[in-house]
Amino acid sequence: MAPATDAVCPLCGYNQGEERILVYHLVTAHKGIPHTPGEEMFLCKLHPEAGSMNHLEFVKHAQEESTKAANKTIGIVLESALLRPPKCAEVNVQPGQVTVVQKHLEETRPVDARPPEIRRRFNVAMTGAVFMILIGYQLAGLRAPLNLIGVIDIVAGMGSLAGSLLYYVHPFRQRLGASIVLLSSAFAWIPFVIFLFRILVGQSLFGTYLLFLLLGPLLAMAGAAMVLVMNVPSRKLSQASLS
Ligand SMILES: [Zn+2]
Ligand SMILES: [Zn+2]
Repeated sequence: MAPATDAVCPLCGYNQGEERILVYHLVTAHKGIPHTPGEEMFLCKLHPEAGSMNHLEFVKHAQEESTKAANKTIGIVLESALLRPPKCAEVNVQPGQVTVVQKHLEETRPVDARPPEIRRRFNVAMTGAVFMILIGYQLAGLRAPLNLIGVIDIVAGMGSLAGSLLYYVHPFRQRLGASIVLLSSAFAWIPFVIFLFRILVGQSLFGTYLLFLLLGPLLAMAGAAMVLVMNVPSRKLSQASLS
């Protein structure tokens, strides 16, 4: 029997060179990954519920999980740099022991200190913060006193960004972080109202700015408010802060 790490197709002998390409070849050309009697079986340390699989099935699983994780983020580069999320890992398992090992892995599974459902909300808030900073930068270049609008937006955006980043550094301070975002972004309504008023009285021609002036505080406040109303069990949180 060929060793599990061989990247040669066991069905047609085609040498793919790389396991992930071989997996793709098996799934597309042979409609699935074949099993050989007596082969080594594995469970995923992070996803024991996925059940036992052979090595190539595990390669496929790990690949699917990493794509899923990438899709969860809304293009925030900071996230992967700050978090370095845990990767799937193979755990060798004997045929009769699947349930026992599965149960053990489920119990010892590392707690995610920054669960995706909270990260997503801070991502929304950060998107709003970036809007505020960008539009603020644009408006800060206008003549006085209009440039003050820009300065307020930059400060509000920076504050919202700081609140979100606080969560990434200290995940158990999520409520404090969200409160900082909520408070900072509240100031960004001032520029929005001033601009809205100027457009209504026909003093301003920068109508498109209004949309971005609205989106900034709207997204930041929505993200922060969703974190604050969220009910996170305190046990889970204290466990997470220990890790
Ligand atoms: Zn083949
Ligand atoms: Zn996994």
